[in-house]
Amino acid sequence: MKVGSTNFSSKGGVSGARVYKVYELISGYESPRSRLRQAVELADKLEELASKIRALEEQVSKLQSSLSNVRALEELTGEVSRLRKEVEKLNDGIEWIRRSVSRRLRDDHNRCIWLDGDGYCTAWYYSEKLEGCDMRPDTVGGRTVYMLNVRKHPLICVACPSYKPRGY
Ligand code: SF4
Repeated sequence: MKVGSTNFSSKGGVSGARVYKVYELISGYESPRSRLRQAVELADKLEELASKIRALEEQVSKLQSSLSNVRALEELTGEVSRLRKEVEKLNDGIEWIRRSVSRRLRDDHNRCIWLDGDGYCTAWYYSEKLEGCDMRPDTVGGRTVYMLNVRKHPLICVACPSYKPRGY
């Protein structure tokens, strides 16, 4: 399946059982699938940076105990501190996104009306199961469709045009 070509239908904010392309409704540039992929890539990048830092810290600690190569020790210490700053910046960005999206899913806040008790979005149906995502099958108009668990994949809610807070 190509990114952005998943057919899906919505009952949230759009009437009838029309079938839409993801990119037409969510964003002119990004599909939900591509946003999910970006989240996974971001998490991978963070893990990669964190393991680099761990490896460098081990080297620093070995060099510190031998004190045989001051220059190498200084270079490694500088590299560790540069990577730390990079990870902190990424973490800040992710935290901002998490906070923003959590407002749409929290029971004690502006929870979206389309979120069901098990964490699935009942507004959007996908024609195919997205690999690596928690999705629940359903039947619409005789077709098998899939609903996404947005509690496990909350990034999809960040810029969702069907978001509707309870009580409004
Ligand atoms: S904000 Fe999230 S739960 Fe609400 S309709 Fe959009 S994707 Fe579904």
